[in-house]
Amino acid sequence: MTLREDLFADLPDHPETVAFEPTRQAGLARLERFASRTGRHYASQRNYDLGPARRSTVSALSPWIRHRLITEEEVLRQTLAGNSPSAAMKFIQEVFWRGYFKGWMQQHPSVWVSYQHGLHAARNKLAQSVHKNADYQSAIEGRTGIACFDHWCLELKTTGYLHNHARMWFASIWIFTLRLPWELGADFFLRHLIDGDPASNTLSWRWVGGLHTKGKTYLARPSNIAEYTQGAFDPVGQLAQSAPPLSEDQEHPFVPLTFEPPPTQGEALLLVTEEDCHPSFACETPNDVLGLVLPRAPGSAEQPHAFKQGAVEDAVTQFGAQGRALTTQDWTAAVIKAAEQAGTTQILTAFAPLGPIATKLESLQRDLATAGMTLHQCLRPYDALLWPHATKGFFKLKKMIPTVLTELGVADAKTL
Ligand SMILES: Cc1cc2nc3c(=O)[nH]c(=O)nc-3n(C[C@H](O)[C@H](O)[C@H](O)COP(=O)(O)OP(=O)(O)OC[C@H]3O[C@@H](n4cnc5c(N)ncnc54)[C@H](O)[C@@H]3O)c2cc1C
Repeated sequence: MTLREDLFADLPDHPETVAFEPTRQAGLARLERFASRTGRHYASQRNYDLGPARRSTVSALSPWIRHRLITEEEVLRQTLAGNSPSAAMKFIQEVFWRGYFKGWMQQHPSVWVSYQHGLHAARNKLAQSVHKNADYQSAIEGRTGIACFDHWCLELKTTGYLHNHARMWFASIWIFTLRLPWELGADFFLRHLIDGDPASNTLSWRWVGGLHTKGKTYLARPSNIAEYTQGAFDPVGQLAQSAPPLSEDQEHPFVPLTFEPPPTQGEALLLVTEEDCHPSFACETPNDVLGLVLPRAPGSAEQPHAFKQGAVEDAVTQFGAQGRALTTQDWTAAVIKAAEQAGTTQILTAFAPLGPIATKLESLQRDLATAGMTLHQCLRPYDALLWPHATKGFFKLKKMIPTVLTELGVADAKTL
């Protein structure tokens, strides 16, 4: 362990540290603990990043929500059980950002494809430039000399989490001060964040760089960092003073959502993936349950992978003694074997939004069809309600929040 890693060594001893245990029970316990802070406390404190030993200003629920060990609906319900909608509206809106980003990217799929192309191109350029590669290495190793940036880099690698404000500052410094390609930064986050999410991550990086809301960028300012870290950092004279928007030569057309109707349920194998670890909505009484996890990708950190594995295992145990979770690249063989043992040709799973799991399910679906089996992805009712409103800016969806809360039955229309 280096001296700087010692900074984080005693984290478990601090009462306001959040331990990211990959179980539904741990997620519910954190929700229970933070619920009383989702009102005025969150609205006034949420921008403060007091470091991992004092994670009291924000919920730190994202690892559990991202993998749906606990759902947005449960979080909203618990929030509104203890607060008036007006007191908790800031927190509620933040929860809706997740669904907004997922729905928006699902309806603008070329954004995900172009991010992957951009990442590939940026990696090739690094390989050709000793200087750029050295800059990149010092950024991802936290050796830039910008103390706050280096600290967040280490914090991310050590804890698997960063406060939202730190993510914004980090991305802004990466793009506008260090002048590194945004795709490499987004990839670095995805490889280390326990809550790493293709939609929230890609679109947030694009937002900082001025690609999501065209022309509107986010500039990290020393005074803002000093204020919201309560003086822990004050990078005067070290940061870019302007943030000219990035540009791209590609439009991202709107593609309407299309979903097959849910199958009439009968005999089925339930497939659990990291995208939804509370999937009983897809099939309440499956013949059997199989959890599948992809092996850790080269260059990805151990923590996010361990969380995914643990989350899928925990989801499988929600169905009692039956079922098992496997980590394998060969999903086709695993599913066919499990379906045969379960005596069914129908496999149900929660819908996977754009990302590595969606790509994996696409090829699985083709393979299963060849084997005379069907894979059906079931869209969670929450997503079905929200995504059609995620076509333009967040403001359009924000206006619909009272309607969505009423339709979900988590709030009474009269109180909104
Ligand atoms: C550059 C950048 C990259 C990001 N990458 C990711 C990512 O890979 N995965 C991810 O889940 N979030 C990402 N975010 C969004 C946000 O930073 C995290 O969701 C949030 O910090 C999680 O911490 P929390 O649970 O304490 O949030 P809280 O402030 O307590 O908010 C409560 C919940 O609301 C949701 N939420 C809050 N803010 C956002 C947001 N801006 N976008 C989407 N959902 C939000 C989360 O589910 C969160 O758990 C990124 C933001 C930026 C600026």
